[in-house]
This record gives sequence, C-alpha cells and structure tokens, in this order.
Amino acid sequence: MFDAMESTFHKNKITIANNLISSFNINYDKRHNVNIVSGNAILADFFSKDHRESLFIFDSSGINNVMDFYNDISMPADIKVIDIESIKSGKDISRIIHLSKGIKFIIGVGGGRTADILKFLSFKTDISCISIPTSLTSHVYASPKIHALPAIQDFGYKLTIDGKASDLALVDTSFLEHVYLKNKRLIMAGYGDLMAFWTALEDWRLACLNKNNHYNLFAENVILDIFQKFDDININEKFSKWVDDYILIQNQLCHITDWVNSAPASGSEHLFAHEIEKYCDEPMPLHGELVSIGVLIFGYIHKLDIEKIVTLLDKFSVSRSLKQIGINKSIVCKALMDSLKYGFKKNRYTILNELNFSYADWENVIDGLIESNFILE
Ligand SMILES: [Zn+2]
Repeated sequence: MFDAMESTFHKNKITIANNLISSFNINYDKRHNVNIVSGNAILADFFSKDHRESLFIFDSSGINNVMDFYNDISMPADIKVIDIESIKSGKDISRIIHLSKGIKFIIGVGGGRTADILKFLSFKTDISCISIPTSLTSHVYASPKIHALPAIQDFGYKLTIDGKASDLALVDTSFLEHVYLKNKRLIMAGYGDLMAFWTALEDWRLACLNKNNHYNLFAENVILDIFQKFDDININEKFSKWVDDYILIQNQLCHITDWVNSAPASGSEHLFAHEIEKYCDEPMPLHGELVSIGVLIFGYIHKLDIEKIVTLLDKFSVSRSLKQIGINKSIVCKALMDSLKYGFKKNRYTILNELNFSYADWENVIDGLIESNFILE
C-alpha cells in the first residue's frame, strides 16, 4: 500500500516535504500523507515564522477567516503578498513568476482556485509550495492534478494538467472547526464532491467494458473501502475525529486518479457539474454541491440506491435544493444536454454515451426526482 501511495509522488517528494517541515519547524499532530500534515493551531505558529523568503498568494475571504480566528496574529511584515482576485490572465501569472525571483517558498492560503494557481506557479518555477486550505470544499490542496483555470489556459493548457501536488499542505484542524461552525457548507461541500464515486465508479466500469479505460482492482477496492467509511463516519462525534477520515478520503481520491486516471472519481456527474457552470452567475455555486446533484441524477440513470445516496448527502449536510445551491431546473436540463459533448472533449466514456436523451427526456427525469423529493426545487 505504501509503495502505491508513494508512487504518486516524484522520488524526492518526501525529502522536499521533510525539508519544509524542518525549515519552518512545523509541529504537527498527524501526518496523513507524504505531503499532508494536520494539527491544532498549526497556522498560528506557522505565521509567526520568518517569511522574508516567502511569497504569499491568498484568497481574501480565506485569510480574513484565519485572521478572524487567530485575532492575535497578523500577516508577517515585509513579505510579498498577492490577492488571488488579481490573477485573471496568463500575463498576471507571468508577472508573479517574474516577481518570484529570489523567493524560496510560495505559500497559498485559500480554497481550490488558490491551490491550483499555487501548484501551477510551483510547477512552472520549481519553487517549493505550501498549501493552506481555508475550507474543505475541494481536495485540490492534496491532488497532483492542476485544473486549467482561465489564467492557466493562457499558457496553452486546455484540460486538467498532470502537474504536481503541493510540496506540503498544512491542515489546521482547530481553524477548520471554526469554519465549520461558522459556515458548514465550506467544509461539507467537499463531501458532495467525494460522493461522485457512486456514479463515477459505474461510468468507469462501463468505460472498461467498452475498452475506453483500463480496470484496476486495487483502485476499485479502495473505492469500496471509501463507501464503508461514508457509512461509518459519525458527524456527531468531535470534529477532530471525523475530519481525519474526511482528509484520508480526499487523499485516497488523489491517489486513485494517479493510479488509474480521473475516471473512477469523475464521471457523468462531473461532466454535468462542469457544463452547468457556464449558465451560472457570480457568486458561483460550490463545485461539490453541483456534483452531488449530478450524483442524484446519474445515480437514478444508473439505477443505484438513491435513498442511500440521499441519506448520505443529508448526513453530510450537502444541500439537495436547486435554489439553495444557486441553480434551477432549466439550466440543469441545458447542462445535461451539453454534458456528452464535454465527455467527448475529455475522452471520458460514461453512461451518457449510451443515452440519446432529448431536453424533454431530461425534464422528465428531473421532474421525477423532484416529485420523489430526492431533489428539492
Ligand atoms: Zn470534483
């Protein structure tokens, strides 16, 4: 198992992670993976270190939450800081690459978008990067995949890049518990994303049958183990207890996508979640919540046990309400109509390849799911 886990990373990854831990003298409680450590108040200590050789990229709401929680710490003085909102195009990224000359560490504080830009900068410059997730809405902090955000697309990348994982991720459990108590969705939406395994596994099996993907028994067993964990996780227990399993599943997902490819973790539900975004306005819905609607729709198409999926989504407090998520029936149907085309673009074989649904057919499916109270309007 450990060899399989380690194979995801480049050979020197553990040395780089160990060097970062000793450079900043990080006292962690738990090491979840080669590059993921967690602990209570790990950030308070980290921010108090000498950061003259660091460049910070942050999401302002994320960093404000950190400052709000640790009201006695401030951003270290005399350091380079860049707000993620100022990174709109490839030119902005090039400017940061230029600015990073002489810098030893790039540190990203924020959600998935910040972690993607952070990893891309590190990928391009070879400067070590440290990711500090301020929510658990995504597993980007742990994953070696880099999403081709618009600014990254300007470098010629059109699809997800097999880039590099963060050299180190610092998961502050006491801070994340504070986020959970303040805005549950910022922690629990990530469960919606992980629920993709239900439908993606079925799509992957279909793809393997159609020789469009290769099968991997070990990866499938890890997914079945994740299903067991979904059942076993007890949200009523202490946050620090269940968050460990949550982080573990996010890490397992990253390894599965490395051992096979992203198919077992990203099927028709993700094609839908991607396609609906273009119909949405700011503030954008949370990715994990869009995915969970996709899991309900394609779980129904795959004839899975929808009641079980609903029970899990409710246990993880992932919304099933279109309105609450920020979407509506009409754009859901439009996105479903577009999803197959996106599957072709990604070369991702899913159950969509075997359907020939019209807009009216999708409307019927959604109406049925709403009537049965599986999806709420
Ligand atoms: Zn996802």
